[in-house]
Formats: sequence, C-alpha cells, structure tokens
Amino acid sequence: MKYSPLHNFISGEIVPDTVSVMEVISPSDGTVLSTVPLSNYEAVNKAVKAAEKAFPIWSAVPIKERAQIFYKYKTLLEKNIDDLSFLVHEENGKTLSEARAEIEKSIEVTEYACAMPQLISGEVLEVSKGVECRLEHFPLGVVASITPFNFPNMVPNWTIPNALVLGNTMLLKPSEQVPLSANRIADLLKEAGLPDGVFNVVHGAREVVEAICDHPGIQAVSFVGSTKVAKIVYKRATSNLKRALTLGGAKNHLFVLPDANVQMTASNVAASMSGCAGQRCMAVSAMVAVGPVDNIINQLVLEAKKIIPGKNLGAVISRSAKERIENYITEAINEGAVVLLDGRNCKVDGKENGFYVGPTILDHVKPEMKIAKEEVFGPVLAIIRSDNLENALKIQQSSFYGNAASVFTQSGGIAKYVMENASAGMIGINIGVPVPREPFSFGGWNESKFGVCDITGKSSIEFWTKLKKTTVKWNPESKTNWMS
Ligand code: NAD
Repeated sequence: MKYSPLHNFISGEIVPDTVSVMEVISPSDGTVLSTVPLSNYEAVNKAVKAAEKAFPIWSAVPIKERAQIFYKYKTLLEKNIDDLSFLVHEENGKTLSEARAEIEKSIEVTEYACAMPQLISGEVLEVSKGVECRLEHFPLGVVASITPFNFPNMVPNWTIPNALVLGNTMLLKPSEQVPLSANRIADLLKEAGLPDGVFNVVHGAREVVEAICDHPGIQAVSFVGSTKVAKIVYKRATSNLKRALTLGGAKNHLFVLPDANVQMTASNVAASMSGCAGQRCMAVSAMVAVGPVDNIINQLVLEAKKIIPGKNLGAVISRSAKERIENYITEAINEGAVVLLDGRNCKVDGKENGFYVGPTILDHVKPEMKIAKEEVFGPVLAIIRSDNLENALKIQQSSFYGNAASVFTQSGGIAKYVMENASAGMIGINIGVPVPREPFSFGGWNESKFGVCDITGKSSIEFWTKLKKTTVKWNPESKTNWMS
C-alpha cells in the first residue's frame, strides 16, 4: 500500500475509527493506494460536537482575521501545488496537468473567499429621520459538504473557503473513492492556522451521508454528485429542516453551426468531451450538428485521435465505470449509431490493470437513444444531427438535466438566441467547458441542481449565511411616525 491507512480528522487530530475499511484503488493501474474508514453516525456526531464547540469562538473572530488564514491557505496551495496535483492524479486517475488545473481552480476560489470582507460589508440606510436600518450576514453554524470523486481537491474547495471565511464550521465527507486529498486539505488548513474543530473530515459512504442529513446539529448541507443521490440528500436534509443545496449530474449539449470556425470548434469539442476522461459535469456529451458540418466533424475526429490513453487521457475512476461506459457505447452501436472512433477495449502498455477508455465518437445518434439522454460520464461524444436550430434546441430543452450548453458559431444573433433559449444554468459561446470563473457563480438548472443559490461565487454567500436586519433609533427627538 503506497499511502498509510486514512483516518477521520476531527478537532485538529487524526482520529482512528474502529469501523470497517475500504480499499482505495488507483484507477491508473488498479493497485491499492490506501484504505479509508467507512464511518457511521458516531463519527459524524463526534465531528459535529467538535464543530459546535469551535463555532462560537470562530464566528466571533472578525471576518478580516478569518480571511487572513485563507490568505495563508492560498499560499500553501500554491507552494504545494506539485504534491497536491500528484495526489489528485494518483487517486482519481486524471492526468497530472488536469490535476494541476484543479488545484489552480482551488486557488482561485480561495482568492475569492479572501475578498469576502469586501463583499459582505453589509448595508445601512437612514429610513426615516434619525432611524436607521442595517443588514448583516451571520454564519449558520455547523455546515456539511459532501463531495464526489471527479474533483477530489477542487469540489471540496468550492465550499470550504467561502463557508469558513463567512464564520461557519464544517464537516467534509469526501468521496470514499478519492479520500486522500481531503486529509491533505485538512493538514494545510491546520498549517495555515485554522483553529481546531473549525474543519473536520469524516470518511465513509451512504451511512455518513444519511447521518449528516439527520444530525440535528448540522444547519446546512451542500452536496455535489449524481442526480440520483442529489435528490435523496435534498429531500432528507430539507425534511429535517436543514438548508440544502445539492448539485447533480449533467448531459451537456453543444450546438455546432456550419459557420463555426473549423479548427477552434474541433479542438474545443475534443478537449471538452475527453478532459478528465469525460468525467466532468461540464463536459460536452451530446454534440448537436446543426446543418452541414461534416468538415468540422472530420476535423474533430482528427483532433480526437491525438488524445492517447495513458498519455494525455487519464483513466476512468473504476472497473465498473469502464464497464458502464463501454456498455453505453455497445448499446448505441446496436441501436444504429455510426462509430467514428471507438475507445472500447483499450489497454495502456505497462498499465494493463488500469481503467482506460479511449476517446469515442458516435455519429447519427437519435435523440431517443439512451446514449443521447443519459449521463455517460466517460470520454464519449454522441453526435445528433438536426436540420435547424429550433429542433436542435428542442433536443436540449427536453433533457432532464440543465448544467451547461454551448454553441459554436460566428453569428452573434444565433449565439444570443441559444444563450436565451437553452435550458441550462451555464452557457458557452465558442467555449467547450463554460465553467464560470470567480466571482461568477457555478450552478446548473433542472435536475442538475436542487435548492436555491449556487455553490460558488457571490450566490454562495446567501447559502452560507443568514441575514440579520436591525432597526436603530438613538435620538429621542426623532418623531414617531407610521412605522414607529
Ligand atoms: P455519487 O452521487 O455517487 O456520490 C457523491 C457522494 O454521495 C459521495 O460522497 C458518495 O459517498 C455519496 N453517496 C453515494 N451514494 C449514496 C447514497 N445512496 N446515499 C447517500 N450518499 C451517497 O457521485 P460520484 O459518482 O462520486 O460523482 C459523479 C457525479 O457527480 C456525476 O453525476 C457528475 O455529473 C456529478 N457532478 C456534478 C457536479 C455539478 O456541479 N453539478 C460537479 C461534479 C460532479
């Protein structure tokens, strides 16, 4: 085992648990990296107690001082970027450069959190002579963040800096498939000077998530993962009267028009479908070819052929994910899809036990096929042909999901039409992966997100805080009026 067994991190300490453990498997070569405890309610309760104890002290620290700790944390992320990237690469299977990009995004969201004192300075207004109303953001208390396997460092950092700078204390439940980065994050936060108990990690799977949803000490739950579990968590957390924001899966459509720049479109679509082995909730998964765009498709296939498993294409997360993805491809071919590039049965020399799927492009996919509708979460692109933009948009609008949609065109009018009519929370114009950069917030529509607010950026401030409205009158000479 390359790494020593993992344990929970509670109140600034590594806390061994006596529960059963699960092996953490390297997607790149199938070896055992470590073990992770599958904790239960007891560990959640311990972490909540630690976070409850830390809350009054932490929330009383002025926000400018809380932000100072995150300046240090940001510096530590920068200083340790090589190690952090390598860890993500090891446990997730993505390439080193993709892992590095993930840490760079963690740095960007932390930088945003450092600006929080400037962003939430509150509001004051004299509402009648001598009477003033003020509005302030208050932290919620103990909050929880539940994260998926595809971004072991970035998705936890979508929530940690903002929630903590705003004065909350937190329990993180990372994906049991990629638990190593979470403990590294805990170490760096401690090194940055975060007081014990403000940030805690409880490892595990379903039982921990259910305990989080049920525990009366937790005020708010954020979740990122599949739509199936996002619905379960949203319902369970809100039925226990908690605030919840749960981000789900995606099926992102990308419209290609005949006037699109051929090379830019081909290289962007290839990168979008295959980046992180297609395991990004922002990856294009269905390309809608609007009209005659065969020249672009031909170029796209050439670009995709440059994506080599084990070199610039990482592994998918597990053997079962590889099987699931390959089954989707086989089923689509059986239903009549035309194979332009087939990534099944791919083997990487020296990494024969790794879980690799090569880039796959399927043409003439029909909108009613399973591969056109369901989230595949692999480096697979389904091309759906459409004669006109109206019909193309109908295909996108009929999706259950609504994370992202993109259009490639040189026409401002068409781009605006798609921007206005696509049923998705994040739109790209000549961008294959339209992730909003800070301060813009991240969040989809439809079954890609449940709850109000977004998970990053300005919108997340509303999620992580409650508003206090105070009306003040010190001056006895102020006359009484209809509001007195
Ligand atoms: P997942 O839903 O299987 O797991 C997410 C978390 O939920 C993990 O921590 C896991 O331990 C826990 N979990 C799993 N099954 C559970 C259950 N039955 N009850 C309670 N908790 C459970 O997701 P994943 O496979 O880790 O991640 C991939 C999914 O995440 C994809 O669908 C992807 O689109 C989505 N995702 C979405 C976004 C977004 O911003 N919308 C971002 C990243 C990933």
